[in-house]
Amino acid sequence: MSDQATGPRGPTGERYPSDLPREEAMARASTLLRDKASEIYFKYTCEHCGERNTFNDPNTLWSEGECYSCGKISKVERAGFMVVLDMKEARKRKKEI
Ligand SMILES: [Zn+2]
Repeated sequence: MSDQATGPRGPTGERYPSDLPREEAMARASTLLRDKASEIYFKYTCEHCGERNTFNDPNTLWSEGECYSCGKISKVERAGFMVVLDMKEARKRKKEI
């Protein structure tokens, strides 16, 4: 179990508890995409300033990212993601019930 009470990371390099190694993040994302017709936006933490960044391209986990806050490049070795559910599909299912 991850500790949800950890809070935002400090400048010393600890990560959000939800971040996973790249391979695992990608594996989980592809399972979600297959099962729920959703889009995935990957997130990572800037290794320079600690800012949380989200990639603009859906379903794409780049190996490097440019920080929106400080502009420096980070290697993306761990990532989290945001799932966008297909709401149209969800509404359709609700009507059928
Ligand atoms: Zn930064």
